Amino acid sequence: MLGHYENISGWGRTPQYQSKIFRPTSSAELRSVVDSIAANNENVIGRGLGRSYGDAAFLAGENVIDLNFLNRILDVNYDSGEILVESGVSLDSLMRIFVPKGYFVPVTPGTRYVTVGGALASDVHGKNHHIDGSISDHISSFTLITENGQTTVDKELNQEYFNATRGGMGLTGIIETVKLKLVPIETSYVNVHTTRVQNLEALIKTMKDTDDNYKYSVAWIDCLSKGQFLGRSVLTQANDALLGDLDRSKIENARHFNTKSGLSIPFEFPISPLNKATIKAFNTMWYFKTKKGETDSVEHFASFFHPLDGIGEWNRIYGKTGFTQYQFVVPDNKEAELIEIVELLAKKEVSSFLAVLKRFGPKNGGYLSFPTKGWTLALDIAIQAGLSEVLDQLDDLVVNANGRVYFAKDARVSPNHIHKMYPDIDKWRTVRNKLDPNRIFTSNLALRTKLI
Ligand SMILES: Cc1cc2nc3c(=O)[nH]c(=O)nc-3n(C[C@H](O)[C@H](O)[C@H](O)COP(=O)(O)OP(=O)(O)OC[C@H]3O[C@@H](n4cnc5c(N)ncnc54)[C@H](O)[C@@H]3O)c2cc1C
Repeated sequence: MLGHYENISGWGRTPQYQSKIFRPTSSAELRSVVDSIAANNENVIGRGLGRSYGDAAFLAGENVIDLNFLNRILDVNYDSGEILVESGVSLDSLMRIFVPKGYFVPVTPGTRYVTVGGALASDVHGKNHHIDGSISDHISSFTLITENGQTTVDKELNQEYFNATRGGMGLTGIIETVKLKLVPIETSYVNVHTTRVQNLEALIKTMKDTDDNYKYSVAWIDCLSKGQFLGRSVLTQANDALLGDLDRSKIENARHFNTKSGLSIPFEFPISPLNKATIKAFNTMWYFKTKKGETDSVEHFASFFHPLDGIGEWNRIYGKTGFTQYQFVVPDNKEAELIEIVELLAKKEVSSFLAVLKRFGPKNGGYLSFPTKGWTLALDIAIQAGLSEVLDQLDDLVVNANGRVYFAKDARVSPNHIHKMYPDIDKWRTVRNKLDPNRIFTSNLALRTKLI
């Protein structure tokens, strides 16, 4: 099968490189591409829908296997909710097919435009990590293509391979098929409880006191406000809505997921409209548009879980220079450090259009899986002068708080830091070397951070 050179990047749009892209449409084609790359002593990385922000899903000047055409649903068990799918199937497709039949994905990130393979490779989390863990906690097995052919990896029988691949950022091989357990639902709606909170300290207390009552919890934070309003926020917590929670207008079509893609950003903005002044204005508007105190509403899955998916290619708003996402987690007892980080952001006026705080439950066995018990803050930040010094400072604060940054969002963290952030790296390397002894699977992320 022939590959074609194309310019690709992560969701942050920078950096951009040419890679030779292969698009297999069958398992046989996938295997023959991997075989010929291995035979030529070349390197390769797998790629899903390219929603990782930085350099995880490309390899400059070398080979990239785009899995989007391996997107078949191979088996469904409607009694248990277990499905067997090819790794290129997207969560969006799963929702459109299975929500009307009464099933939802167990974990969804803030966008549904991710593939199942990409979700497993990053071991993605959603707003329910404190209750349900991350996606791999709902996967019982998968098949992996390496230079030695196909291996079936079962969670119980092949724990090492399972733990090296979930969160392993595609560096153990190409995930070919996945067995995932969907969860039953009565409706495609959630009962949402919204609380406007005056500052970060109050938010931390509210989340600690009340999160266990809700399956989903997330807070949007204004990282530009200071003083007694430092980290003022809007907290949304929710549970799945039952049929009895819906009014007449919704009950007739209680399990629909036919959301239309709305407007799309047609071109890359020459100059990004997102600057300190506009973001400050937006943050203020967002905070005050939420009613003071607490309110309840019923919302459709699509607007609750994926508010940005309604705008196609919204990352073009950031213009040529692009943007980055900085997401870190610090342990539960490091609230003082979390506040210190938000103080630093406010002091340096690092404007983040979307800053979201969530709480993680316990860590799973994934050697490189990001979620560990504690607080995770994610910030979308336009690339700007002086940013890299601030982010370096944040890295130090995160490391000193025994925290870590998320590889799926990262484009800049240094090798020194990641070894402190991910203490199981050596264990991961040992297993990875068994699966990929000649190190054919690599990415710009792996080269930059010296992961392999
Ligand atoms: C708006 C937005 C919101 C987001 N919200 C969240 C969130 O709430 N929680 C969260 O955890 N993440 C979140 N993300 C990040 C996203 O979920 C992850 O980056 C996910 O991995 C993207 O999946 P993808 O199919 O686009 O994979 P890609 O970005 O294409 O690839 C990601 C990684 O997976 C590997 N990979 C992809 N497919 C395969 C395969 N078949 N076999 C082996 N390796 C493979 C790649 O090599 C790469 O290392 C968000 C991203 C965006 C843009």
